[in-house]
Amino acid sequence: MLQVMGLTKRYRNVPAVSDVSFEVKSGEIAVLLGPNGAGKSTTIKSIAGLLRFDGRILINGLPNKTSEAKKVFGYVPESAAVYEYLTVNEHIEFIARAYRLDEGYREKADQLLKRFDLFDKTDKLGKDLSKGMQQKLSICCALIINPKMIMFDEPMMGLDPKAIKELKSIFTELRNEGCAVLISTHIIDSIEEVWDKVLIMNKGKVVLSRTRDELEEKAESLEDIFFRHTEGAPDL
Ligand code: ATP
Repeated sequence: MLQVMGLTKRYRNVPAVSDVSFEVKSGEIAVLLGPNGAGKSTTIKSIAGLLRFDGRILINGLPNKTSEAKKVFGYVPESAAVYEYLTVNEHIEFIARAYRLDEGYREKADQLLKRFDLFDKTDKLGKDLSKGMQQKLSICCALIINPKMIMFDEPMMGLDPKAIKELKSIFTELRNEGCAVLISTHIIDSIEEVWDKVLIMNKGKVVLSRTRDELEEKAESLEDIFFRHTEGAPDL
């Protein structure tokens, strides 16, 4: 479970995120939408522990910057974070050691590498992988730790259709395993089938939070509510 409470972040004097609160329950897929400059990246980086911020962020009930929280937290950043001079296999081994994973990780890693067509590339260096392959490796690394909470920033960017299909299946598998999933994206169509809750940000605030049931009850589409809540809204 992820809880964000009163998240506020200013860059010098520029307000980027102001008093943002929301939660993503275990077994829930939440999608974070918003126009350019809405504050999504700032929110994501705060959750990932990469920024100083005011407010509280809990992962599984623990402050996000503690090592206990980090142990159960998977993060797939917008630009794949691969090491140039480690092979695909060495990335897996590195994560396994850093997170002190049980022996079963190897089987899980092999399954993931096969699903993302990386199994025959285990000896390739990070720098010799294509952008899409780097993204897939980054996804595999985030998944092998068996996260209780996982966050994806524009995960479909640069992926081929097969990888997109696999990733969508993985989203629903994570939900079934009780993982809390947060996906930030600009491409509404890409997550249409999988989301349970939508959070719309605009001008540094969460301006709408709706479950799929709530939206279906009113026969509204994601696109309808996105434009209604992001166009012509007053400045922060
Ligand atoms: P995009 O969809 O374009 O990636 P975003 O929703 O991720 O946008 P943020 O990157 O979080 O938005 O930006 C929110 C606000 O904070 C914007 O006004 C932006 O100009 C400002 N901002 C972001 N990063 C910095 C920074 N390093 N220094 C100063 N201002 C920043």
